[in-house]
Amino acid sequence: MNNHYDVIIIGTGAGGGTLASKLAPTGKKILLIERGDYVPREKDNWSSAAVNLHGRYQTKEKWSDRNGNELHPHTNYYVGGNTKFYGAALFRLRSEDFGEINHYGGVSPAWPISYDDLEPYYTQAEYQYHVHGQRGEDPTEPAAKCPYPHPAVTHEPRIQQLSDDFARLGLRPFHTPLGIMLDENNPHASKCIRCNTCDGFPCLVSAKSDAQVLGVDPALTYPNVTLMTNTYVERLATNFSGRQISKIIVKRDGVHEELSADIVVASCGAINSAALLLRSANDRHPEGLANGSGVVGRHYMGHVNSIMLAVSRCPNPTVFQKSLSLNDFYFGDDEFPYPMGHISFVGKMDRDSLRGGAPAIAPGFALEIMGNHSLDFWLTSEDLPDPENRVTLDRNANIVLSYQPNNETGHKRLHSKLKHLMQQQTACPVHGHECHQGLFARNLFVGDRIPLAGVAHQNGTIRFGKDPNTSALDADCKAHELDNLYVVDGSFFPSSGAVNPALTIMANALRVGDHLIRRMN
Ligand SMILES: Cc1cc2nc3c(=O)[nH]c(=O)nc-3n(C[C@H](O)[C@H](O)[C@H](O)COP(=O)(O)OP(=O)(O)OC[C@H]3O[C@@H](n4cnc5c(N)ncnc54)[C@H](O)[C@@H]3O)c2cc1C
Ligand code: SF4
Repeated sequence: MNNHYDVIIIGTGAGGGTLASKLAPTGKKILLIERGDYVPREKDNWSSAAVNLHGRYQTKEKWSDRNGNELHPHTNYYVGGNTKFYGAALFRLRSEDFGEINHYGGVSPAWPISYDDLEPYYTQAEYQYHVHGQRGEDPTEPAAKCPYPHPAVTHEPRIQQLSDDFARLGLRPFHTPLGIMLDENNPHASKCIRCNTCDGFPCLVSAKSDAQVLGVDPALTYPNVTLMTNTYVERLATNFSGRQISKIIVKRDGVHEELSADIVVASCGAINSAALLLRSANDRHPEGLANGSGVVGRHYMGHVNSIMLAVSRCPNPTVFQKSLSLNDFYFGDDEFPYPMGHISFVGKMDRDSLRGGAPAIAPGFALEIMGNHSLDFWLTSEDLPDPENRVTLDRNANIVLSYQPNNETGHKRLHSKLKHLMQQQTACPVHGHECHQGLFARNLFVGDRIPLAGVAHQNGTIRFGKDPNTSALDADCKAHELDNLYVVDGSFFPSSGAVNPALTIMANALRVGDHLIRRMN
């Protein structure tokens, strides 16, 4: 049959794109299905107004929240998935994150695999995605068998000053591990030009380590791998016993088609993969595919995230701001012995990005001044897997995302810690006054937190585990109830830690890839 494949992978982001590159050399007939197209290469890629103010690349799809209010999700449907737009901060989870951890707001559950199980794949992923970093600096980093493949991205003077100040206060600031193809020793040959439009933007010169450039594109050099773009997977059908996916029903350029594969891998992102399984309910799987346990769509996590602008009279002329991180409060401190989370940076804010996310708080010139003087911190704390935080479908099969924030105390503590630290900085080299007086915290959007529509770190909706009564996937990320369905996007996380998720998704896809290779041989 022409439409039959050995493996079909649905979605080409961090999970799907990475898995494709792993399986490509097997010679198996592999199809990648992607609902979006390639990100168009155009000057708007690097336009803050186009990207942040006008949402040029963001999906126009509408979801709703649990009260029926419309939700415009900040997510992107393209070859490479959300990695085309990510900030490429590529962290390993801490080894403790794989075990149970007590938080002030509850318990973060253990994973069915240990850090040691994933360690070799973290290394592979760091090499595949050209991670730059320096081992030994981050006080919470897990043991690694190999050094980073590339040296850490250096700090610009203002960030170096901040790093020195943090160190002076007894902290251990470190270089953020970053997936950008930057060669600081040979700038003339470097693909990356270290620009100010990286986090949130596609890379016009293909120098970001995204899943298209380093996953899908290399996979497509193999003749046994094909990619269907603009192809939306509507539903998965099962055979009579309900144990096998027998058909994949897609809509390609408005026309329905049916495909099939020995192995089917869903990697649509945590929200869309859950929606796909729920849409695929049938007589054998009345609550949705692989959902005998009832967990599919539940335990949605997206991190407790906020942006904090530290604005002072001291200018911040930094171009590439994401080079510094702080994990001293990740597991707590003497004053608060519970996890607080991770502090790093977003890309440098400018007038348009501030205007794009802000209510009309200030006229344009004030935003411009603010952009020129702010240090733009990104704070992440762990949210805990609550079964009522979930993806469901409305009667038209549109996505409904229900979410009630939890575990916020640690996050508030983290805020206070950072504020306190910023009030103790050294004098501004330009003006001589306390550099950070006048600091205030403000969310990029409204209020103090990234709102529900900010689903960048989505995970947890099809959790893996040993017990089929409390998880949908087994430890190999195969559905407990189906013999040929796997999930390799961020859905599988039973808990999310407080560092960015993409490297863990990539590493896990490589791990599942090894399992699939063994299974197919
Ligand atoms: C602005 C931004 C900044 C970020 N910064 C970082 C960072 O610095 N570090 C980090 O670790 N993470 C970051 N992230 C998060 C990171 O991008 C995601 O964790 C990661 O991309 C998730 O991988 P995934 O495979 O789960 O899903 P995705 O990468 O979202 O891929 C899912 C793919 O499935 C496709 N798809 C969905 N539904 C269907 C369907 N029905 N049929 C066919 N195809 C479908 C989508 O189009 C998409 O291509 C950021 C995200 C954003 C948006
Ligand atoms: S050139 Fe470098 S800094 Fe600029 S978007 Fe590309 S990868 Fe990011």
